[in-house]
Amino acid sequence: MSYLDALLTKIIRPEVRAVGAYHVPDAAGLVKLDAMENPYTLPPALRAELGARLAEVELNRYPVPSYRELKARICAGFEVPAGFDVVLGNGSDELISMISMACARPGAVVLAPSPAFVMYGVSAQFAGMEFVGVPLRQDFTLELPAMLAAIARHQPAVLYLPYPNNPTGNLFDAGEMAAIIEAMAGIGIVVVDEAYQPFALASFMPQLPRYPNLVVMRTVSKIGLAGIRLGYMSAAPALLAELDKIRPPYNVNVLTQAAALFALEHLDVLNAQAALLREERTRLAAQLAEIAGVEVFPSAGNFFLLRVANVDAVCAKLLDHQILVKNFGKMHALLANCLRVTVSTPEENALFVAALRRAVG
Ligand SMILES: *Cc1c(COP(=O)(O)O)cnc(C)c1O
Repeated sequence: MSYLDALLTKIIRPEVRAVGAYHVPDAAGLVKLDAMENPYTLPPALRAELGARLAEVELNRYPVPSYRELKARICAGFEVPAGFDVVLGNGSDELISMISMACARPGAVVLAPSPAFVMYGVSAQFAGMEFVGVPLRQDFTLELPAMLAAIARHQPAVLYLPYPNNPTGNLFDAGEMAAIIEAMAGIGIVVVDEAYQPFALASFMPQLPRYPNLVVMRTVSKIGLAGIRLGYMSAAPALLAELDKIRPPYNVNVLTQAAALFALEHLDVLNAQAALLREERTRLAAQLAEIAGVEVFPSAGNFFLLRVANVDAVCAKLLDHQILVKNFGKMHALLANCLRVTVSTPEENALFVAALRRAVG
């Protein structure tokens, strides 16, 4: 073993050594339907205006870490209840890391339904916490008795509920979620991850005043701003204050801040794009349902989970047609032969439908 290998074995934690690097495929030249991005950009006039705005940003100065104006805009634009504030993150991925770090007492457990967003487990393990995944039912609904039993047994410090879930696309039953939040009272916090809220039009944000242990987490990534990396979360002020202590003081950079402020001034444009994508979702669902050999699961997000007979072969054939989707076939027993595809423009959706027809035919 070389000097460095020996050193790394000695100093890097075994759970970090054990994982492979997060792989992001190169999408150059491909129709990119793997990451739930909004396919629409800002109109040219707004892009020019944004350019002028960004040119004024003082790149030589650190951000002002209170982010007062941006936070106020977010609270007003996204229905954060009166008396509640938000904490900003460099994407909601960073918020998940902050929650893990803040709650990583020795022996602490993080719990989530499974399959769900992979970062919940990855982040918990990186923080030295145990991660427990409670299987969903075959139809991807919550198995409430199993969730309640796991809560009683593991006493999780943190429980994640994605609403809607990724990669399955469904909204869990709101009454069952409320039962879980109530069962967690006095045990731990419940993070409702609403990354797809603009497509679901359902939210636990209005419930914040009712549940002192509730965190509602959102991101601007899926409504057209994935590149700027901005997430936010709200919770009872005392809880939010603890989570905010973990945040690196300058975690949201000045360009992100200026671009987000600009986008929030033109939220109507982003909301109109989300409305278009919701209409496309309905059209695409109907087209996919007509393809023999393809099972389409209902989705409240800007994506669909599909099951085919041989997902590896189908994904390879889609790639032959320059279409990139995400293959979930090997991720989880419940996701056997499943792939996930982003709802995109009418043109890109048509390309996908045509290629999928040929791939399964
Ligand atoms: C995409 C996604 C996120 C990550 O959002 P970023 O703000 O881009 O880090 C969080 N949660 C779920 C469920 C997601 O699908």
